[in-house]
Amino acid sequence: MNEIIEIGTAKANPGTIGEGKMIVETLAGGGDIAIPVTIMNGINDGPCFWINGGIHGDEPEGILTCSLLKKSIDPKNLSGSVILVPVINVPAMEAAERGNPLDTFSYDMNRIYPGRKDGYFSERIAHIHKEWMVKFADMEISIHSGGSHSYLAEAMFAATDEKTQELSRAMGEDWRVCLYSNVTSKSPMAVMSENGKPALTVELGGRSATGPGKFLEVGNKLHKACVNIMTHYKMIEGVPHYPSLRQKGYQQALLAPKSGIFLSNPKINFLTMMKKNDLIATIINYQGEEISKIMAPEDGMIFGLRALPNVTIGEWCCFFAIIEGEW
Ligand SMILES: [Zn+2]
Repeated sequence: MNEIIEIGTAKANPGTIGEGKMIVETLAGGGDIAIPVTIMNGINDGPCFWINGGIHGDEPEGILTCSLLKKSIDPKNLSGSVILVPVINVPAMEAAERGNPLDTFSYDMNRIYPGRKDGYFSERIAHIHKEWMVKFADMEISIHSGGSHSYLAEAMFAATDEKTQELSRAMGEDWRVCLYSNVTSKSPMAVMSENGKPALTVELGGRSATGPGKFLEVGNKLHKACVNIMTHYKMIEGVPHYPSLRQKGYQQALLAPKSGIFLSNPKINFLTMMKKNDLIATIINYQGEEISKIMAPEDGMIFGLRALPNVTIGEWCCFFAIIEGEW
């Protein structure tokens, strides 16, 4: 038999779902700054699987995934618990911006963990979230996407240790690319890794994948991966699936060499090997003249590409995976 779980104002007996929030502070107008949390507490013992979304406010894919999980997982058939945090950075999500518009000092919340109790606004949110997560979570995934500027295909960042790679493999058949960069980047994943617990930063979706049916397609794929993790760790019944090939490498983010309009090469595909110096995109100026080319920096593949054509010098253009081999 499992125990009662309490996180912030949420409480769930074994076999039930509890809803609440982790309260951070009160704003000048009297409203709470709080992080919503759902506890799906299983009947039987098992691991605590913690799912984070919305640390970047222009990436709502985690909310969709959590909503699909809540509909499909019955805590009466669950061993262990699943903790859903659909949005960590609520002010950023409300503004549909990457960071909290009320905090210009620690804008990118995925680079400030473990946060600080007496730090900048977002650091305080990170601190409260981290305290609860580290107390309960045995394993964690954070759901990201290309946000308002890009589309990212199925890829993840993960540490190289065995326990983390097991979790990475448990994402299932759709997830072939696992990169070992950014693992110490002051993210929730980094904090979990430092505590010896497996964690992933998962990327899928973003601008250009929100048209009719497209957003749901992304949500369904992320939902499928979360369910597969639960199956792999025997939290629910079922037969897990695994990718037939897992590619290993690291990210190189390519930044816009010029300002203008970004035109991707129509002949390239996501997660498909290309050669060093193959054409990824061109940038044209407002008179239509080509002013720059973006090429593959090494042999590897694109897993993310700018989807907002308007581009300013130095902005993200391409998320390139330099592939070194197989896991
Ligand atoms: Zn993100």
